[in-house]
Amino acid sequence: MKHEAYDVIVIGGGHAGCEAAHVTARMGANTALVTLKADSIGVMSCNPAIGGLGKGHLVREIDAFDGVMARVADKAGIQFRLLNRRKGPAVRGPRAQSDRKIYREAMQAELKAMPNIDIVEGEAADLIMDGNKATGILLADGRTIQSATVIVTTGTFLGGVVHIGMKSFPAGRMGEEASNKLAKRFRSMGLPMGRLKTGTPPRLDGRTINWDVLESQPADDDPTFFSFLTKEVAARQVSCGITHTNELTHSIIKENLEKSAMYGGRIDGVGPRYCPSIEDKVVRFADKNSHQVFLEPEGLDDHTVYPNGISTSLPEDVQTAYVRSMKGLERAEILQPGYAIEYDYMDPRGLLPDLQVKGFPGLFLAGQINGTTGYEEAAAQGLVAGINATRSARGEEPAIFSRSESYIGVMIDDLTTRGVAEPYRMFTSRAEFRLALRADNADQRLTPKAMTLGCVGPERKVAFSDKMTALKVGMDKLKGENWLPGEIRAAGIPISADGGRRTSLDLLSFPKVTFENIVRLNPEHASISDEIQHQLWCDALYSKYLVRQERDVATLKREEGMIIPSNFDYSQITGLSNELRQKLERHRPGSLAQAARIEGMTPSALALLLSQIRPQR
Ligand code: FAD
Repeated sequence: MKHEAYDVIVIGGGHAGCEAAHVTARMGANTALVTLKADSIGVMSCNPAIGGLGKGHLVREIDAFDGVMARVADKAGIQFRLLNRRKGPAVRGPRAQSDRKIYREAMQAELKAMPNIDIVEGEAADLIMDGNKATGILLADGRTIQSATVIVTTGTFLGGVVHIGMKSFPAGRMGEEASNKLAKRFRSMGLPMGRLKTGTPPRLDGRTINWDVLESQPADDDPTFFSFLTKEVAARQVSCGITHTNELTHSIIKENLEKSAMYGGRIDGVGPRYCPSIEDKVVRFADKNSHQVFLEPEGLDDHTVYPNGISTSLPEDVQTAYVRSMKGLERAEILQPGYAIEYDYMDPRGLLPDLQVKGFPGLFLAGQINGTTGYEEAAAQGLVAGINATRSARGEEPAIFSRSESYIGVMIDDLTTRGVAEPYRMFTSRAEFRLALRADNADQRLTPKAMTLGCVGPERKVAFSDKMTALKVGMDKLKGENWLPGEIRAAGIPISADGGRRTSLDLLSFPKVTFENIVRLNPEHASISDEIQHQLWCDALYSKYLVRQERDVATLKREEGMIIPSNFDYSQITGLSNELRQKLERHRPGSLAQAARIEGMTPSALALLLSQIRPQR
């Protein structure tokens, strides 16, 4: 050990732990990253992909803080795809299929390059406490490490139990031991602990798949990166295959349901509604006779294929039978069976907004241990815990993330005030200010705050300042030039130009107007870089919506006290998702304010509810 006492100890080298250790080191804190196996740092336990809807926003926000996940995901990206491409930029989600090995190695290289991080291989078996204050840890081999603060990011390892059909055994994930000593310590502290579960699909040998008969999904021609610093693709791009479950697949699953660990009643924990197992899908959506399955390569020099959409806890022989019932998989060999894992989590309402455990100063929790699911959610919490553990070690005030500035703030607020009824996953619909919280403007929203907090390195500072200068110059030009209706018509701009003069910025705020249209009006703009053109377009497009959004939020705030009749019929609200309808029927909130606090409630759903209860008063 390099130091007698560290500023921060991070337990766990998963996605939360890596981000936490990297930010504490960026902020200059001496950090010990204690993890079970050093060469498992940065392992992706489940799907080999980063990002997606809502999750991609989180990765961009981490990057705005000069975090590490976005850059690593860009290095490992073997299929970049921008989801929701046809919708507006606010709900587009950058996603990339990752080469697992490149991801892990790139993450380890990033951490090893930080002089302030000591990587310590070992099992954290206990916390050292001074009263209720965390002051270090005890390793299973008897070593002790002292520190001002401790961040626990043990993922699915606390009390982890793996289930495959009728077989169950303790494990943190396949092939790695569970963390039972630390679990015991947490349970003895009187913390609000519970059990959750999640599952993963069988891994297939790509050489036994008949790719020729399958539909193929290529990467985007113009990749959208996660990091604002990445300019080009690092790895070769590949396509994924697509197959489908069918009636035979479903009948095999139905016939064997009682052998499934999840359906045989052997798992108590609650699973993620948004990543249902194939057993779940077949039972819950009994009217559907087919589900899409993406066959995702796990790496460029790896034959393993991840069949996305069929996670399971059925026995191995049943997994083989249902896999082989699908087109292209008739001869597929399973390299590793799918399994479910059940583990301890802490009710995140027991945390302060800086992710410190209430009543236990110096002890921070981040990642799956807080009831979330997903690499991105874990990493974002790691960032918040890392920043705050460093600040706490220095006796500084906590740094709080608000719902109006970031998805990170939305997640922390959801977790700490509403808790979780199932593993929590980020969605764009969770953010009431989502038109302002876009992936494209994460740096504009957050890098200034990150610089104030001291998390940003020199390269990003320069890149950010150059970008802001270019944006200001561009914006001033767009605001400063006025066009006559005749000029607007002559340039073929798709709006009815019958009013007075309009500025370029005003024109650009119309959804159908592109930056190329503006270049036709003023060819000088062609010299603006593609990146800045795109940003100017996004910022202009949302400028009017943002005014409306602020008005809606103000109306909702005014109407929060409105009473909802106890016999209110939620089935009459058209446009409300089934999930929210069920939650409202279950909770029967007495007022709009209570409805707003239901997990997953969105401003648009509240607006619908408001429009229905108003006439009944
Ligand atoms: P992890 O990535 O699990 O990292 C935990 C780290 O802590 C590991 O490095 C481990 O070695 C270390 N550790 C544990 N105990 C100790 C100890 N006592 N001392 C030292 N080090 C310790 N996410 C989804 O979004 N969708 C899914 O469908 C999905 N399915 C999953 C299925 C399975 C079977 C598993 C295991 C995970 C799944 N996940 C899924 C979750 C995803 O893997 C996690 O959300 C993510 O990895 C959580 O990151 P983390 O940093 O909190 O924990």
